[in-house]
Amino acid sequence: MARRPNNNRNRRKPGFVGAREQTQCRFCRRGIEYVDYKDIGTLQKLLTNRGKIYSRKRSGNCAGCQRKAKRAIKRARYMALLPFTA
Ligand SMILES: [Zn+2]
Repeated sequence: MARRPNNNRNRRKPGFVGAREQTQCRFCRRGIEYVDYKDIGTLQKLLTNRGKIYSRKRSGNCAGCQRKAKRAIKRARYMALLPFTA
């Protein structure tokens, strides 16, 4: 009587809330290789209403795009296009 090997495979992390996992992040899907700091509409979707940057888990970005987005958001803040804090 072998134990079923699949027991723990599909367990979710306790903090994970809904949202099916996507194969690609929003930037990869659009084939963007440079995140523009002037593109406020896109960048604002990655911020909380207090101006904090959403985590990778929350925004669904891949590691590379999250870094690009981070850089773009910080540039936009410096250019006073986005708030440091609200
Ligand atoms: Zn990506």
